[in-house]
Amino acid sequence: MMDEAGVPAERVLDEVRELRGLDRPTHGGRLFAYVYDPAVAGLDELAAAAYAQSAHVNGLDPTAFPSLLAMENGLVGAAARLLGGGPGTSAPDVVGSVTSGGTESLILAVKAARDARPELAGPRIVVPASGHAAFAKAAHLLRVTLDTVPVDPVTLRPSAADVAAAIRPETVLVACSAPSYAHGVIDPVAEIAAVAAAAGVRCHVDACFGGWTLPYLRRLGAPVPPFDLSVDGVTSISVDLHKYAYAPKGVSVLLHRDPSLRAPQYFAYADWPGYTMVNPVLASTRSGGPIAAAYATLRHLGDDGYLRLAAATRDAVAGLALAVRGVEGLRLMAEPESTVVCFTSTDPALDLFVLVDELTARGWHTQPQLTYAGLPASVHLTVTASVAPRVAEFRPALAEAVAAARAAGPVALPPELRALVTSLTPEALTPELIAGLAAGLGLGAGAGPLPDRMALVNTLLDTAPPALRERLLVEFVGLLQRPAWRLASGD
Ligand SMILES: *Cc1c(COP(=O)(O)O)cnc(C)c1O
Repeated sequence: MMDEAGVPAERVLDEVRELRGLDRPTHGGRLFAYVYDPAVAGLDELAAAAYAQSAHVNGLDPTAFPSLLAMENGLVGAAARLLGGGPGTSAPDVVGSVTSGGTESLILAVKAARDARPELAGPRIVVPASGHAAFAKAAHLLRVTLDTVPVDPVTLRPSAADVAAAIRPETVLVACSAPSYAHGVIDPVAEIAAVAAAAGVRCHVDACFGGWTLPYLRRLGAPVPPFDLSVDGVTSISVDLHKYAYAPKGVSVLLHRDPSLRAPQYFAYADWPGYTMVNPVLASTRSGGPIAAAYATLRHLGDDGYLRLAAATRDAVAGLALAVRGVEGLRLMAEPESTVVCFTSTDPALDLFVLVDELTARGWHTQPQLTYAGLPASVHLTVTASVAPRVAEFRPALAEAVAAARAAGPVALPPELRALVTSLTPEALTPELIAGLAAGLGLGAGAGPLPDRMALVNTLLDTAPPALRERLLVEFVGLLQRPAWRLASGD
């Protein structure tokens, strides 16, 4: 990829622009996952300028770069205020850290809980089945056992009684979501925090997704139950600034009710000849770029701005939900109570994965979710403020896509593929089998890394049990992630 002679700046930027043309559209209100767009004029430019100013500053040492310390403390303070902490609240001693994302925030919440109980040989955490996969990643990385509590198939919430029953003497943390990513449902935080407190166990609220919208939705009149530091027994809470605070990627905040709860989150090391390492988070060297960009975004949008964006989002959610309710054969998984619209199919002739492809073909990018533990496959829409002006177009597009999906009929998995995925164990997968499957599914064969239509792939994955899904996806993605010996087009 590196030519002997350097490439002029303009041409390099052209290359990046050309590559970016392959991506799903990050702006325009037709992408319902991965990207959070407020559609505020000038905000991208502001964030980029702030990012550029601090990109080379290193968060490794807050004494060398007080600018980052100041901005981080500002972000933590803003998050704490929004989530029931700070002077005059029931959590006046709240502290926190800026992390690179929700996954890191959850890993650190689990690490702090684990390391607060060094006497335990086999620490455990209790997490609802609807909890984010990042808890499983944290448990895996930190060698903590994950005890999953089922969710009610109708309300999609765990019961506090089930959580209480899952707590053992080795439990170091109980988690719940406000709301869950998959369905946008708020867990019974107060009840769960109460059973955790009664057992003397920490309780983390994963508000990575909803922490920056629920307080505003409540101010707009939505019946949002208490979910934050105002709830007794909640010991930590996380909120992703790169979601509904609309900051560029790479920023989340993890809050603890007091400094003693945060202390075991730190890693310090003096037993080597270099600088003594003191890290509050997983990374050591950290770019100031995302922090400065988030700081600029919060300052510029302000409380009023977020309230306005939450109102636009709420209206978009209502409009999309209405569109879904208007389609025979579709059913909302839950009445929207946050910023997610999630629906399933009640008609075997209407295949959700085909519907997702039909929506994609019409320029609407949704997120399919696979069948899991008695819950049907579903389509997830993360709704942001940029969607509001698009709602009127979504309604006819959905109707058209549904008609096309019905006309096309459900995907029939070829019998040999079905036999393969229902009988295979992850251990039995060989490189030859993977390559054969990938070729059969059209992976890596077309212009982009994925075929235009994903229904067959999704149906195959949907048919496989979770352990095989994991393994197949690792292999498929691993096939994509290979070195490029010549990157630039036109060379
Ligand atoms: C997005 C999300 C996470 C993980 O955040 P990343 O920033 O993707 O690492 C965790 N929990 C919830 C509820 C989320 O929505």
